[in-house]
Order: sequence, then C-alpha cells, then structure tokens
Amino acid sequence: MLVLLLLLAGTLSAQTWDVVIGNGRVIDPETGLDAVRWVGIRGGSIGAVSASPLQGRTAIDARGLVVAPGFIDLHEHGQQEESYGMMVRDGVTSAFELEVGTADVPAWYAARDGGQIVNYGVSVGHIPARMKVLGDPGKGLLPAGIGGSGSADESQMAKMESMLRDGLAQGAVAVGFGSAYTPGAPMSEIERMFRVAAAGGASAHIHMRGGVKGLEETIGAARSAGAALHIVHVNSSADAEIDRFLELIGAARQAGQDVTTEAYPYGAGMTEIQSALFDDWKTWPDERFALHQLVSTGERLTRVTFEKARATGGTVIIHGRTEEQTRKAIASPLAMIASDGFIEHGRGHPRTSGTYAKVLGKYVREEHEVPLMDALRRMSLEPARRLERRTPAMAKKGRVKIGADADLTIFNPAIVMDRATYEDASIPSAGIPYVIVSGQPVVERGELTAARPGRAIRAPVASR
Ligand SMILES: [Zn+2]
Repeated sequence: MLVLLLLLAGTLSAQTWDVVIGNGRVIDPETGLDAVRWVGIRGGSIGAVSASPLQGRTAIDARGLVVAPGFIDLHEHGQQEESYGMMVRDGVTSAFELEVGTADVPAWYAARDGGQIVNYGVSVGHIPARMKVLGDPGKGLLPAGIGGSGSADESQMAKMESMLRDGLAQGAVAVGFGSAYTPGAPMSEIERMFRVAAAGGASAHIHMRGGVKGLEETIGAARSAGAALHIVHVNSSADAEIDRFLELIGAARQAGQDVTTEAYPYGAGMTEIQSALFDDWKTWPDERFALHQLVSTGERLTRVTFEKARATGGTVIIHGRTEEQTRKAIASPLAMIASDGFIEHGRGHPRTSGTYAKVLGKYVREEHEVPLMDALRRMSLEPARRLERRTPAMAKKGRVKIGADADLTIFNPAIVMDRATYEDASIPSAGIPYVIVSGQPVVERGELTAARPGRAIRAPVASR
C-alpha cells in the first residue's frame, strides 16, 4: 500500500507544475505561435507549452488574456525599487541601463544584490568614464561641465579605453555612449571607444548628436570600428527627420551592418537641465522656454525660471514632437520599444510607467498601426537578440518555449492602456493583471506582490 502511494505521489509530482497559466492566448514571436495553450512552470523555467490542460500548485486562469514573453527594456535609467515597481505593472520583466551605463560595473551590480522586482543589467559607459577621467563637476547621470565639453588628451583617452575594457571584463552587457551629451568628444574619440566595444563583442548604445549628418557619421564610425550599433530613441534623435533616419538605418542593415534602434511612444523627451543639450539656451526665442516643463513642480518654464532651474539642477520634460513623428517611429518594424524611463518620489516622465501599454493600447488596438505579434516581437524577442551574442543568458528570454526563463507578461488585449500623464507619471498601466519573473508572480490582479525574484543579468565575467 505504502509503495503504491509513493508511486502515485511520484507520478503526480511529475505532472504537477509549480505554476500553471491556463487557457491563455500564448504568443511567441520567435516561432509565431498564437494559440490557446497551458504553460507549465517549474523552478523558474518554462517546462511545458501544452494544448491540453495542465495541473499546478498555483494556477492562473488566463482565459481571454494574452500570455507573452516578459518585456525587455534596453533603456531604463530608473534602476531602483520605485521605477521597477512602475515598469513591471507596464509588463517589463528585465530592465537595462545601457545608454549612460556606469563607470563601476561591480559596484552597480552589488548595489542591487539580494533580489529586485525585475531582472536588471548595465553597460559600461563612455559618459561616466569621461566624467571621471576629465573631472566633471556633475552629480547626476550626465556631465554638467568639462566631462561633456572638454577635450581629452592621449593619456586620458587611453584611460577611458581601459575603463571600458575593465567594465566589459567585469560583465557589462554593452557599452553606452551619449555624443549629444559630450560635444567635446570628436567622432574620432567615439570611434576609438567603438573599437573597445567591438573587441568585447558588445553592442554600442548611443544617444547620438547632429541630426541626419550625425547619424551618417555614427553609422560610418561603427562600420569602420566593426562595432554593433544601437541608436537609442530614434524618435527623439530624429524629431522631424524620422523618415530619413529610418531609411538610413534600414539601408545600413541591408548592406549587412549590425545596426538596430528603439523608440518610445511619447511626443516629449526628458533630460537633466544642466546637460550640454541646453548649452545654447541664451540664444533661444522666448516662446521656446514654454516647451520645457520642470519635473519637480510640473510648471512650464520662462526665460527667467529656466535660468534659475539651470543653476540649481533638476530634470526637465521637453515638449515638441508631433504625433505624426511619434507614430512613424512606433510603426517602423525596425524600432524596438524602449522606455528611457525614470521616476523618483512619484515624479518623472510617463514613459516610465506607460510605454508598453501605450503601444499595445493605442498603436496596436485603437489605431491598427502595428500588428500585435510585431509589437510583442519588438518588446521582447528583439531586445533579447540584441544582447544574447555577448550575454548568452538572454537567449533564454524573450521567448515562450520549453527551456526558456519563465518571465511572462499576461495582459488583456481589449483594455490594456497607459494611464500615466505628464502631470502624474505614477499611475500604473491598466489591463496587465499578471507579470511573472523567474516563475514567481510579481504582479497579481494588477497589484505588486512581495516577491523579489529579479536577478542580475551580466555577460560572462572574464577570468584574469
Ligand atoms: Zn536615456
């Protein structure tokens, strides 16, 4: 009798999953699967994708809901609990800070040890390396003086190269650049740093400068350095030149160059008011100041209040792009979706909290600009592919298949929508009832749980 019970228990456990997501419309952009399936999860991985019902200790009824790979955000500056808590309710399960990155890769990861809401990773950054080497006075992410505007001599250049090399050896997943924030760095310096990225098999993620001509130069520098290139937020870097930007990126890809890009679905940008982007503010006509909205207070600026804010520092939202420009960027099959988000003490840009739901609600459901499968591909599979050559762990993300990590976003395609606004960026998106990270629900019925299964994602650390 005892033997029989043990046998029975053994058979049951072989068929009982930790978590089962039942009856959902499972969409996997890699294989093109779009059908009702049961997903069985065990030990943080997907163990079954089945057309017939499965049994689990925890069961999630996903009838009427889409079960998609968790979204992978390649551009997220808010790398703390508050930002993670907003973006996870927008469907993000892995968040990377790749544009600015860090100059101290081990310290960046150590600061997040012990479990976060979502998975996280970082690049080693040319901007912070340059700030350190040139002695920039800025206390934020971006240069506020010589680190941006100064020029580097040969020994300083060599120092930056070795910092980037060290960061890659310590597991950084990419190399970050912001030539728009470092006008003192000639393209020859950028190309030299691209070579370090190329040698490490890392993609170079750049907030570029200089419009169409700047894009041509950036693509040319990456080509001669042999570096994989990722143009961040093509919508805001291109502004009115979005058609030409997408054409040039498409042409480079046609010619066999590894160039990718990303966009966020908002007409306003956000950055630090002390950055080099505003160095020419004294030459602006009066009406231009009103396009700028101070994040700390929500007020629109004037010449007088702009000058005051520039002296004290802070973050500013910049209004100005047309809906037509935003729509073209989001509709392009070339553009991955990435938020460029950041939020702190409830204040920030709504893109932190609403980027993915806005694409799914507005551009997929309401305006039919993007097929659902293609949107999900650009939110999950393509960002995973961007990183997986250097960071093999990414080959297990962005897919719903046996053996993949159980990072899943479960949403209602009929109601999913962003709700965050420029006045209140802390309103979570609607219509995303469940988000799973490493097999553990981090969002249940739209609310955060206490689980902190998010782990570091890094490239293999070089042994020396
Ligand atoms: Zn950014």
